[in-house]
Amino acid sequence: MEREKTVAGRRFDYGSWLFRKGCFLSGLPMAMGLVGVAAIADPAFGDDANRPPNLIIIFTDDMGYGDLGSYGHPTINSQHLDRMAVEGQKWTSFYATASVCTPSRAALLTGRLPVRNGMSSDRRRVLFPDSKGGLPRDEITIATALKEAGYATACVGKWHLGHLEEFLPTNHGFDSYFGIPYSNDMDNVSGLQHFEANYPEPKVDSFNVPLMRNTEIIERPADQTTITRRYTDEVIERIKEYQDRPFFIYYAQTFPHVPLFAHEEFEGGSLAGLYGDVIEEIDWSVGQIRKTLEDLGLSENTLVVFTSDNGPWLPFREHGGLAGPLRDGKGTTWEGGFRVPAIFWWPGKIEPGVIREIGCTMDLFNTALALAGVDLPRDRTIDGHDLSPTLFGTGEHPRDEMFYYRGTQLYAVRKGPWKAHFVTGAPREEHDPPKLFHLGHDVPERFNRAEDYPEVVEKLRSLAEEHKATVTPVESQLEIR
Ligand code: MG
Repeated sequence: MEREKTVAGRRFDYGSWLFRKGCFLSGLPMAMGLVGVAAIADPAFGDDANRPPNLIIIFTDDMGYGDLGSYGHPTINSQHLDRMAVEGQKWTSFYATASVCTPSRAALLTGRLPVRNGMSSDRRRVLFPDSKGGLPRDEITIATALKEAGYATACVGKWHLGHLEEFLPTNHGFDSYFGIPYSNDMDNVSGLQHFEANYPEPKVDSFNVPLMRNTEIIERPADQTTITRRYTDEVIERIKEYQDRPFFIYYAQTFPHVPLFAHEEFEGGSLAGLYGDVIEEIDWSVGQIRKTLEDLGLSENTLVVFTSDNGPWLPFREHGGLAGPLRDGKGTTWEGGFRVPAIFWWPGKIEPGVIREIGCTMDLFNTALALAGVDLPRDRTIDGHDLSPTLFGTGEHPRDEMFYYRGTQLYAVRKGPWKAHFVTGAPREEHDPPKLFHLGHDVPERFNRAEDYPEVVEKLRSLAEEHKATVTPVESQLEIR
């Protein structure tokens, strides 16, 4: 569990930057529980090389651990992401916080387990078009916090944290929103059963999903064959618009969630079939964003993070991705459901390396706030950790454990290389003693070692109980309709 390379980076001196820019620490209680946030008095950021960095999080939907060339896929051409993985850091034990869409997104944006803010349920695992709930308004997202610190903020793509106006991105800290607000297979008017025949000939009209600009529907059904191209154009436009001030762009891809659609320039181009076409178009999209950052001279002041919301949706066969050497996929608490590719790219700041320590999407919240010089909220439990010490080689890696939930139930726990499954499957199957796997020696979770290591079992059992004691049950927002 050690890094292949540590990094020798440096952190910006945000305190002096804020001082020079005439910023001040607000003595007043900040909106929505933020305390000690740096409020920007003068947003004229200019060309100051020491200004807080920009952040772009690119979050794919249902892309598996094994779906990129740099993560071992033999036929998908992901040349742009592979290059960024070599130039930046490639993480091999990075986790989504849930193995389905809605709770995973809630966790990334708030740094909190979905079980703490109502974004998990044992009955409805995600939000649907008939849902009346969404991410509670008093949750603090990365966008809320960074906007308070003077960042421009944009959300592009799939939201899936509530499609009614009060829950949309523009009411959660984002200056603008452009995208399909929930999964692209919802509003299915095709008559096909969901798991039937892989949608053999996906048709745009079969899925009556809306495309939104801020709070308005501007197209229905959204033309999904051009959506990656339009998302890309939108991200590039926002980068150009915001280039003179710190910005945060959350680009949550609609794909490769089924149904799959690729632009005609990509359709039929991949050795990996339509699924490969879709991934290669996403890879192209990332390459366009990178090129824009470089052309504008922003690449050395922008952290780009690329990861996925959960593992591959395996029942869709050739239209689902691959978890590589990991067991199972989306919807499960096996590694294939939770562990995802994660690439961190920031030329000149992050020294190239492969990181094998544990990271989690919730950590992006803490990392983003640390980079922006914003204090964490003090009125709520935050489950993330600041990954800066690992990104910049400035200290100890902050995380060595991971909690795997299905809905509101804790199914498994990882500590270091050991993972204990107390419950697996649907319908649930309880294990006492838990199934125990060594994820270093046994990557695909094949060999139960519980009988050989009872002391490890007891340690993980205690860890699970201690963790559960920190969780106070809240009303599920996913069940409101
Ligand atoms: Mg997903």
